[in-house]
Amino acid sequence: MAVRVDRAVTSGTFSLDGETFDVDNNVWVVGDDTECVVIDAPHSVDDILAVVGGRTVRAILCTHAHDDHVRVAPALRERVTAPILLHPADRPLWALTHTDELWDADLTDGQSVEIAGTALTVLHTPGHAPGAVCYHAPELGCVFTGDTLFHGGPGATGRSFSDRPTLEDSIRAKLFALPDDTVVHTGHGEDTTIGAEAAALGRGS
Ligand SMILES: [Zn+2]
Repeated sequence: MAVRVDRAVTSGTFSLDGETFDVDNNVWVVGDDTECVVIDAPHSVDDILAVVGGRTVRAILCTHAHDDHVRVAPALRERVTAPILLHPADRPLWALTHTDELWDADLTDGQSVEIAGTALTVLHTPGHAPGAVCYHAPELGCVFTGDTLFHGGPGATGRSFSDRPTLEDSIRAKLFALPDDTVVHTGHGEDTTIGAEAAALGRGS
């Protein structure tokens, strides 16, 4: 059965360091007609379930633990009975949003998440957040980057727990190593490609 990528856009807020901003977040759902995984859980369980449809959710995969990406992860977990996966280096960020609930399983660099007969490879890409990860789907020719890489360049590093040199190192070592025609599905805004962003940022430091 064909594996496809579906997208929802949900609206809400992002808060860190005492400031709050309005944001639109992408939710990516990868799977076939039977089962899927959900990448990030921002703002609205119902908006996410509208894209899931009647499929079985096998996992809730977090790109990082900023509140606009994980706020409804525990509520979604209750509705679909699927584990939340997060890189443990984002524990301090998770704890800012969820004080009495945890995720279910730790992600590690190089781990493979299987869904609907295809594989998502976990790439640990610290910088925007210490536990930020990307999910590379080689058979689908795409990578899900969260806030690590956007159309137009690297994610923000102006707030607590972020570091620009670390982010650029992650992008060059892990993302620019992927084929240039790899489609980049981002955490906010439109798609781009690895080749376009590598040409703009430069492959060397
Ligand atoms: Zn973020």
